[in-house]
Amino acid sequence: MKNPPFHYHRPATLDEALALLAEFGDDGKILAGGQSLLPVMALRLGPPAHVIDIGTLEELKSIEVSDTAVTIGAMVRHAEAEHSAEVAEYTPLVAAALPHVGHRAIRNRGTVVGSIAHADSAAEMPAVCLATSATMHLASAEGTRNVAAPDFFQGFFTTAIEPNEILTGVSFPAWGPTTSGTVVEVSRRHGDYAMCGVACALDVADNVINGAALAFFSVASTPVRIAEAENVLLGQAPSEATYQAAADVVTDTLEPEGDIHATAAYRLHLAGVLTRRGLAEAHDRIGVPA
Ligand SMILES: Cc1cc2nc3c(=O)[nH]c(=O)nc-3n(C[C@H](O)[C@H](O)[C@H](O)COP(=O)(O)OP(=O)(O)OC[C@H]3O[C@@H](n4cnc5c(N)ncnc54)[C@H](O)[C@@H]3O)c2cc1C
Repeated sequence: MKNPPFHYHRPATLDEALALLAEFGDDGKILAGGQSLLPVMALRLGPPAHVIDIGTLEELKSIEVSDTAVTIGAMVRHAEAEHSAEVAEYTPLVAAALPHVGHRAIRNRGTVVGSIAHADSAAEMPAVCLATSATMHLASAEGTRNVAAPDFFQGFFTTAIEPNEILTGVSFPAWGPTTSGTVVEVSRRHGDYAMCGVACALDVADNVINGAALAFFSVASTPVRIAEAENVLLGQAPSEATYQAAADVVTDTLEPEGDIHATAAYRLHLAGVLTRRGLAEAHDRIGVPA
């Protein structure tokens, strides 16, 4: 289906983009890679009157590494982050998630930040943000602010982004050599959205688990982190029995929703299996370049 008519704007600077958003409010939408916005518009699901294309804004195209974080700008495409040595070294869970995001052609156009802004609860990156305790950077004509991942994802396709704001980037804490992670999921075909998935992280030193994160996607209206299962892992030695104990807590705690893609019972079953599989894989990845 063709897109409905709309006004196209291509600002030359971030300030210009923010001024346009301030002018149009709810009638304006940011266009990044267009891999979700354009299908949504073609389907007439609330098409915006004004599309503001940020694709040429150089200030949003960098991956910056500091002692504490890796910050990915709003116009960094999935493929660029996927092949970044810095992302692989300092935030390996992001690197592990990216090959699961759609297909190569989608990753060549779509952006990491666009995926976070879109906030599909079946998408990988929002769960990775939750598992890593990422920070979102927002800007408007009035100023800037930062929002922590748990406060950012608020419901189905709903985030803390106000209509006059642009998500300019996302910072993932830089991990040391004792921490790694992985994303495991079940989908009908590779590249499809998952029926259930989990972003797992483990910090293991001297055969003791000192940190753990389990953030599930495609189970509810937002990604869901299960602290009860993470706590079961802390202070334990990594082993099949430990992972099984965490998986048991997951299946006792998680209340997934059913839909046309999978029943609630099937999702719950997958969540338990993926917890065991993900934790074992996360452990295997510690100290191994992503
Ligand atoms: C066939 C297909 C399969 C897919 N499979 C998957 C999958 O398995 N997993 C997955 O996670 N995704 C999947 N996707 C979705 C897609 O990968 C992402 O949603 C997409 O990459 C989002 O980034 P984008 O730059 O294309 O965003 P756009 O499409 O440009 O924007 C998406 C939304 O976010 C808003 N937005 C974008 N950037 C900003 C910003 N900086 N500030 C404020 N708002 C912003 C837009 O206004 C729009 O509402 C699939 C898409 C297709 C077409």
